Amino acid sequence: MTTARLFLYREPEIPWLRMADVGMHLLKNLGRMQISVRDEFVAHHLTGGARDSILSHFRVPDPEETPGPRPTRSGPFFDGPRLAARLAAMLAKGERGKTNLHLIPFPEALVRWDETASVHRAVDVVPAEVVLVSVAGLGKDGDWQSRRIFHDLVIGGVYQYFTGEKSCEDPRCFLHFGGDRLRMNSREWIACDRHRTMVRDRLHP
Ligand SMILES: [Zn+2]
Repeated sequence: MTTARLFLYREPEIPWLRMADVGMHLLKNLGRMQISVRDEFVAHHLTGGARDSILSHFRVPDPEETPGPRPTRSGPFFDGPRLAARLAAMLAKGERGKTNLHLIPFPEALVRWDETASVHRAVDVVPAEVVLVSVAGLGKDGDWQSRRIFHDLVIGGVYQYFTGEKSCEDPRCFLHFGGDRLRMNSREWIACDRHRTMVRDRLHP
């Protein structure tokens, strides 16, 4: 039986975030899986100081308004889905594929392009092969509440990536609220049976 592998990356710009704690939170809530904690993503996969030059390609103008998750965050803003795809292309072949998930905390604000409205919208989580979780808008020193919100966002990102769904019709399911961090930040998150089964099957195929 294979087990999903989750790679968590430390981000030096977010020193308060302890990825080992995030890993413990995932194990507690999602059950047995292989978790590795690594140093900064770009440093791990690229030599030299390529980070800023890569990021500069994905900077977008500040949206006039940033509807979406609260609290409202300030720039700079980066195109989350395009950045995630670029970072995924750096992964080693053996660490790609459906049973691998790479999770990177991102210090700045993220947006995605909303085609129907032709605007960029702020998002907390980009659920792609490389899951980006933005800490923009969270306390700079990482109080307990910021940590808890981050943990919830990570679980949300794992669920969204492994199920391929961003929301749920079941109002009791935490995916019902999509990426709304305020509502997700309840005392407990509970996934519906369907989504829990989907994630379990992906974690333990
Ligand atoms: Zn659900």
